[in-house]
Formats: sequence, C-alpha cells, structure tokens
Amino acid sequence: MTVPLRGPRGPELLRGAELLRMVEPDLALRPLLLLSDFDGTLSRIVMDPWGARVLPGARRALRRLAGIPGVRIALLSGRTVPDLASRARVGGAIYLGNHGIERAELPRRARAEALRVEHDPALDDYVEDAARLASEVPRLVPDGWLSVERKGPAVTFHFRAAPDVAAARARVLSAVEALDPRARLVRFPGRRAVELRPPGAAAKGDALRTMVDEVRPAVTWMLGDDASDAQAFVALRELREAGRTRGLAVAVHAHPEMPEDVAASADVALASPEETARFLAGVARRMRAEGQAGIVSTRAATSSAQVRARSSSPSSRGPSRPAT
Ligand SMILES: [Mg+2]
Repeated sequence: MTVPLRGPRGPELLRGAELLRMVEPDLALRPLLLLSDFDGTLSRIVMDPWGARVLPGARRALRRLAGIPGVRIALLSGRTVPDLASRARVGGAIYLGNHGIERAELPRRARAEALRVEHDPALDDYVEDAARLASEVPRLVPDGWLSVERKGPAVTFHFRAAPDVAAARARVLSAVEALDPRARLVRFPGRRAVELRPPGAAAKGDALRTMVDEVRPAVTWMLGDDASDAQAFVALRELREAGRTRGLAVAVHAHPEMPEDVAASADVALASPEETARFLAGVARRMRAEGQAGIVSTRAATSSAQVRARSSSPSSRGPSRPAT
C-alpha cells in the first residue's frame, strides 16, 4: 500500500474506489487517525473563499467514521476553528484551525457554535499586528477582488477572483511591505492568497505530529491539496519511516495543476474532491460492515505492518521540500 503510483508528472490520479482497494489491508487497524484538509479536499475550490461548502457525501462519511470506535477524525485547515467547524459540521471530530494554532473538539450531536477553542497564548502578541494589516491593506488595495480573512494572530489576503493573479499578489505584497516593513509577521505567499503568520507558529506538519503523539495510531491517513498540506505529508512520511505509524499521504487534485510540493511529497493522489468523498464513503461502509461482522482490530497487528511500511517507504524520490 505504501508503494506510490507515479506517472511522469507526479502521482497517478486515482478514483475513490481504487484508493479504497489500496488501503484494504489497513481498514481493520486501530487506532486509525484520519486527518483531512478542507478547501480543495472536502470541498471544491470556488472563487469566493466564503462560498466553500463541504461535499455532502464527505460530511456524511466523516460523521459515520467519527462514530466508529478507534477511529479519530481531525480536520486540519488554514481557516479558523469556528469557520471550519461551521462549514464541516462533523460531530466527534477534532478541529485544528489556523494550520494547527487553534484546536477544539466538537462532541457528537453538538452545535458548532458551542465550540470552545484553545489557542497558544504566546501568539496573542501578534493579534494587534494582524488586525492592523487586515484593516489597512484594503486601504492601499481597494479593489473588489481582495478578500480579507481575519484569523486572530494571522491574516490571509485572498485574490482568487483577481483578473491578473500575479499582479494582484505583487500589489498585496507591496502593501504588506509598506505596512509591516520589519516583518513582524511572516509572509506565506499561496496560490491565490498571501497569508501572514507569527514567526514560529505551528504549521500543518507540527499539527500532524502532535496528533500522532496523542493518538498513537496504528495507521494515519492525511488528505490535502495544497502546499501547506505537503508539510504534513512530509511529517507523515518521516513518522512512517521511523516506525511510528503506518500511513498514507493522499494528495487531492483540486486545481488545474497539482502544486509541485504536493506531487513530490504525496504517496498517492485522488482525482478530485468528489473522489475524496467517494473514498471516505467507501471506507465508512466497509468499516461498518466489518464492525457488524464482529471483526476485532488490535494495535498488536501493527508491529509487522510498521516494518512493512518502513521497508517499502519511498526513498528514491529524493528529499521533499517543506512547503511554505
Ligand atoms: Mg486545501
């Protein structure tokens, strides 16, 4: 299962049913940790970042999976926890927002509004800087395509709808430069956004490591579509190679071209967010069927599985660059 399928330009694109067949040997292992990004993974990419919606099939499957003993679901996104939880609305899941800076757990059948969000108080010093930029950048770039996402100690400037994305990025970066010349906040240029974050703030790779330390999973799956997810893919591969977990880094093809970091660090790739939903639905169906058949899963099954994962870990692809 850990042998990657790769074409000349990155991973071969799989349908959900094909990936389900590949993970078959791991379906009975517990604990199973499933981490998933949101935008472009559980939702289609849309021009308006506020218009992103979870695919109903993905939500249904995640809700089912969250109710299976030994399965942990964690949603890991650049969005804030309240935003992420109100869009996903999967009870029983852990929400890791702002790339892992924030965290909350939504009990099953609880309302997203009832979330209590934990965050790192060390980053509170940056809340004012981020808020100031959120207010002032739009004064220097008063164009209709600019959309500002306020995220406590971080802020994202989206320009998905700009007619000239490269020019939009340059204008946003130049405004940020003028307003934060000493770079109190670190710039992370994305595909159609620029994000500003406190120096040293947690990223998705750190969030995945924390979850693996906590859950001690027999198997870990990480699904994502973008450069920030590639960091988590790299972390997962390192943990797998160290024998800490079996695992699979699953890229989701949501953009016209898969980002280089994503293609380089994923084990396999799904063809679209819709295929993600089909894959998750298939996993939920299979696990429930196995549960009803009385199949007992144990962690004891992992030691030989981990050796297999380690020995078949990809090493010929060269080092992966951590994404920004
Ligand atoms: Mg994404």
